[in-house]
This record gives sequence, structure tokens and C-alpha cells, in this order.
Amino acid sequence: MSGKIIVIGAGICGLSAAIWLRRGGHEVTLLDKDGPGAGASFGNAGLLAQWAIVPVNTPGVIATGLKYALNPRKPLFVQWSYFPRLLPWLMKFAANANDTDTRRMVTGLTAIIGDSLDQHLALTRGTRAEKWVTSSDFSYAYESRADFEADAYGWALKREAGYVPELLEGGAVQEAEPMLGPAIRCLATLKGHGHILNPGAYMADLAAVLQDEGGHYMQAEVRDITLTDGRIVGVETDRGSMPCDTAVLAAGIWSKPLMRKLGMNVPLEAERGYHLHFVGPSQIPRNPMMIARSKFAVNPMSHGLRCAGTVELGSIDKGPSRAPLNLIRQGTARVFPDLTYDGVEEWMGFRPSTPDSLPLIGEIGQTGVHAAFGHQHIGLTAGPKTGRILADLLSGKRPNIDLAPYNANRFS
Ligand SMILES: Cc1cc2nc3c(=O)[nH]c(=O)nc-3n(C[C@H](O)[C@H](O)[C@H](O)COP(=O)(O)OP(=O)(O)OC[C@H]3O[C@@H](n4cnc5c(N)ncnc54)[C@H](O)[C@@H]3O)c2cc1C
Repeated sequence: MSGKIIVIGAGICGLSAAIWLRRGGHEVTLLDKDGPGAGASFGNAGLLAQWAIVPVNTPGVIATGLKYALNPRKPLFVQWSYFPRLLPWLMKFAANANDTDTRRMVTGLTAIIGDSLDQHLALTRGTRAEKWVTSSDFSYAYESRADFEADAYGWALKREAGYVPELLEGGAVQEAEPMLGPAIRCLATLKGHGHILNPGAYMADLAAVLQDEGGHYMQAEVRDITLTDGRIVGVETDRGSMPCDTAVLAAGIWSKPLMRKLGMNVPLEAERGYHLHFVGPSQIPRNPMMIARSKFAVNPMSHGLRCAGTVELGSIDKGPSRAPLNLIRQGTARVFPDLTYDGVEEWMGFRPSTPDSLPLIGEIGQTGVHAAFGHQHIGLTAGPKTGRILADLLSGKRPNIDLAPYNANRFS
């Protein structure tokens, strides 16, 4: 039996796990060192990216990555001083960049993200958080048909999974999205997806939903996990010891040091990402989109226009860099030449990424500590399903999904 459960981390994964565990009748306390949605779940692009089944590590990624990393006008940045520490992760990441492993990762990703909109609706139905979830179409915005065709490998995998784009070219692009300037000449649109209207407010409301439904939330930093005879008996926090019978570790990138306390060195690195949030924009697009050339997403949110993306490989201890923010700013001006706004907010966050682009979900050894982290670029999309799977496991139910790809012990 799971008894008293502590969930560590109030990002989308921890919040979803806590709510579904509470609905399963468990006594649940959710802890966060900084507050609900303080990590990556706050500032992401807000896409329910159920089409994002193709991992970053596809065949050819190393050659492209090297070319990009050496060119400041491309959407991949590297903190070279961190490179020696990154290298072991990068080598494992590169080892998966072949057709066989890419297809294995696609299978794992499809199962965890393919029904994301329905999962968010199930999590929020009838609650105060429901208003932040909305359905939408999603487009990749290309500068030419040739650029679309250059992405043929990824589109072939998407087509195999049933994601077949509707292609618009020429004047039809601006008819569909009047805000786009002439730089964009090809839109590949996928119908029937969704997005979040304000990720930060969504996280705050999910924390309130947990409490509305009888769960507990407390601001506290977990510093250690106490085991007796190899099983968890409590956590040590900056607010004292808290006993528990089971824990869910959903601390995003910060799960790595807590895993080390359990004796496991998980290859988890931060793909640092950025957003510019335009307040009081003069225009917003009808639907979210991805600007393919600069690799940032554009989302019409309730409180402004968010442009978020890029990857910077580096340390979580260093502050934001200017170059990725400049790239998003220049890319926005290029594709939306008529956009004006009242102000811009800047943000940086850490995507918690494994070398096989798959999260860790399930019990770590036989410790009673259950992993729910490592969701890289798709954590907002996959969080509610991850939480539901864990709640099922801890309630003795067998989830209707093959959990082998997410085995929490696969790196040990
Ligand atoms: C620029 C950018 C754009 C993105 N866009 C999208 C998108 O459109 N769609 C999508 O699906 N995903 C997107 N992502 C990825 C997504 O945001 C993450 O995968 C997801 O938010 C991870 O959620 P999480 O709950 O695992 O971690 P986090 O949201 O990082 O939450 C971890 C929480 O744990 C807390 N914590 C850490 N250590 C401790 C401790 N010791 N004790 C207590 N609490 C602790 C932190 O304070 C934090 O609140 C994007 C990411 C970035 C950076």
C-alpha cells in the first residue's frame, strides 16, 4: 500500500501526479521549493504538442548540431565552458541518433503524448483550471517549400503515425494567418491539437485544484530522501523531516541531485530554452505555430503573444545568455513585420532531457520512490498522462500502456 505520499516538485508532472493520486483516494502532500510552476512549466511555449513524436536525436543530428552550434544565427547554442561535463551525455545522445533508435523513441513518445488534449481535459474538467486548456490547429511555418521538403525524415515519421499536414503555399499562407509577413511562404498545418492559454496561471490553478479536492500543498525544499532497509520512510526538507511511505520525484532538472541521493547517476542535462512574451501585441495569430527556421514556437496566449524555444546546452547554474533571446527577437521581427507591442518579458527555463529523449516513469528500484521526470521538450504535453500512470501504478491498477520505454532504472 502507498499510505502517505509526498510528491516532490509542483511543475506539470508533480501537479498532475498529485491530483490523480488524490482522486485515487490517497493522502497526498505536494512540496515545491519555490512555488507551483516555478520551473520549466511556467515559461514554456504552452503547446499540447501531441504531434511532437520525433525526438531531437534523429540521424544526422550531430552534423547539423555542429554546424548550428558554430553559427550564432542558428537556434542551437553551447556554453563551451560546460562542454567537458556535457560530453558523456552528448555521446549517449548521439549513439541514439540512428533510424532504429529514433523509431524506438518515436514509439515511446507517441504513446505518452498522442492523446494530450484529452488528458488535459480529463485533468481539469469541472475545475477552476479548465479555462486554460483550449483546442487549436498547429502549423509549421517555412520560408519555402524546399525548407519543408528538407524536413522530410521527420514528416515521414509523423505521417506514419497519422499526422498528415495540410500544405498551404503562396498567398494562401497570409489568408490563413494574416499576421505572417512575406518571409513565410509555406504552412504545414496539423488539425485538432491544443494549447494552454497561460501556463503559469494554469500551474497555480492546478495547485488550487489539488487543495480543493483535499490534497495538501506546502512550500518546502527537499534536501534528502531517507531510506530504511532500502525503502523510503521520509524526506528531509528545509522545514524539517516529513515522514511518508511513498514519494513521487517530479523535480524536473533538479531530480538529478535527488537521484544521486538514491545512489543513481541519471544522465539528465538541461536543454536551456527561452521565451519572449510580448505584452499588448498589436496582432496575434489565429493558431499556434512553429517558426521552422529559428526553431521557436508562437502561441497566442490570454495575456499576450509568446515566442518560445531555441536550445542552449549548458549549466543550470549560469544565468541567461543574450544570443538566444536576440535570435528569437530577430526571428519574430522577420516573420511578423507589422507587430508592435507595449512591452516584452524575457525568461529562461531548463528542459530536463535524457539521452534517449524519453522520460523516467515508475519505481526506482524497490525504494518506494517513483520517478516522473525527464520529459525534455514535451513535458507540458505529457505531464497529465504521466501523473495518471503513476496514480494507477500506486493504486494497484495496470495502466493501459507499455511502460518499458520509460523504465526508471534503465540507466543504472
Ligand atoms: C522554452 C521552452 C519551451 C517549451 N515549450 C513546451 C511546449 O510548448 N510544450 C511542451 O509540452 N513542453 C514544452 N517545454 C518543456 C516543458 O516545459 C518541460 O518538459 C516541463 O515543464 C517539465 O515539467 P516538470 O514538472 O518535469 O518540471 P518543472 O516544471 O521544471 O518543475 C519542477 C519543479 O520542482 C521544483 N523543485 C526542484 N527541486 C526541488 C526540491 N529539491 N524540493 C522541492 N521542489 C523542488 C521546482 O521548483 C519546480 O517547480 C518547453 C520548455 C522550454 C524551456
